Amino acid sequence: MPVSFELDSDQLTLRQWVHDFAADVVRPAAHEWDEREEFPWPILADAAKIGLYSVEFFATQWLDETGLGIPIALEELFWGDAGIGLAIVGTTLAAAAVRGNGTDEQTAEWVPPMFGTVNEPRVAAFCSSEPDAGSDVGAMRTRARYDESTDEWVLTGTKTWATNGGIADIHVVTAVVDPELKARGQASFVVPPGTKGLSPGQKFAKHGIRASHTAEVVLDDCRIPGRCLLGGKEKLDERLARAREGAKSDRSQPSMATFERTRPGVGAQAVGVARAAYEYALDYAKQRVQFGKPIIENQAIAFMLADMRTAIDAARLLVWRAAWMARNGMRFDAAEGSMSKLYAGEVAVRVTEQAMQILGGNGYTRDYPVERMCRDAKIYTIFEGTSEIQRLVISRAISGTRVR
Ligand SMILES: Cc1cc2nc3c(=O)[nH]c(=O)nc-3n(C[C@H](O)[C@H](O)[C@H](O)COP(=O)(O)OP(=O)(O)OC[C@H]3O[C@@H](n4cnc5c(N)ncnc54)[C@H](O)[C@@H]3O)c2cc1C
Repeated sequence: MPVSFELDSDQLTLRQWVHDFAADVVRPAAHEWDEREEFPWPILADAAKIGLYSVEFFATQWLDETGLGIPIALEELFWGDAGIGLAIVGTTLAAAAVRGNGTDEQTAEWVPPMFGTVNEPRVAAFCSSEPDAGSDVGAMRTRARYDESTDEWVLTGTKTWATNGGIADIHVVTAVVDPELKARGQASFVVPPGTKGLSPGQKFAKHGIRASHTAEVVLDDCRIPGRCLLGGKEKLDERLARAREGAKSDRSQPSMATFERTRPGVGAQAVGVARAAYEYALDYAKQRVQFGKPIIENQAIAFMLADMRTAIDAARLLVWRAAWMARNGMRFDAAEGSMSKLYAGEVAVRVTEQAMQILGGNGYTRDYPVERMCRDAKIYTIFEGTSEIQRLVISRAISGTRVR
């Protein structure tokens, strides 16, 4: 697919459609759900009604051969609000884990019910992080034991920071099958709705994205059918045997590649938050009069806005490049996926802070949305791999050195 900076008519229609939903439904509800710190089920229902929250919508965008469908949709949705945006797209994390690690049959069985139906939308959660295993995924303790007599897997452990954890119908859980193999001894499992032994832990009170539900998930001898192991037992046994023989893991590369491919989407969310704050600050600077003239007539303010816009456009280009590369099966030799997430996340933090500065005292209050955007933006340097971990991935990719 050749590169073009001109969106085609389908992409323009998509952008306008998501933008209208973000402007008419998401933005007006953002303050209320941020203050309530609750999952916005009615807004999710609205998104389901128009087909935005549906497996068909995300599948169509995943198939867009330019790779730009997902970044375009996410930027617009998160322009509306990041907390509600994450409430609407959190399920796709779990769906991506099934699609990335499972068979076609498993994807067909588990991904559609993650979204529920138009009348009864449901959500799913991806549970990898643990209290002692955040950036250090190899330190994971949750155990998966196979019970041959019943053909069941038994999961035990505590997951933390799970988006939609405990309120989801379907949880995708990573666990250790062979502790001696560390990260190479791990596997992913689907925990079907209503499984005994899975219970919600504490829900976190957060700094930002407060409409998104983040919680612990406790797994206490949680028994799931053998077919819930993503990828199947035969493939797992082969992989573990290779790892035990000390063969160079062929898993670290694919799993790294999966993360690289999902990171541009997270970058696109950050671009949406940054653009929302920038646009608000630009309008404000034209209206606000001090010393007898609009504050935008001061270079100090106008140049700040120029820097903000430049950084946002640069971030979007990195996101689009990585998304286009991922969709066209290109190798991320310089960790271009991580680059896009790193840069867009840091731009979101800086730009929202600059927007607050432009609004002065008003920017510091909850009467103006920039304060919320500023709190929301910070998550983009933390989740889905912190900025430090992105730099680690990029520096290793460009140097070929095991940078620590
Ligand atoms: C709102 C929210 C939603 C989340 N959603 C999910 C989810 O749905 N599913 C899920 O599994 N997880 C989720 N997470 C977890 C998230 O991915 C982790 O918080 C993140 O990976 C960082 O892990 P940690 O919090 O344990 O920080 P730590 O790993 O303890 O890191 C602390 C600090 O040390 C730095 N650091 C750590 N190791 C190194 C190193 N080697 N070199 C340099 N610096 C280093 C980090 O960059 C960071 O600054 C979510 C987190 C939040 C806050």
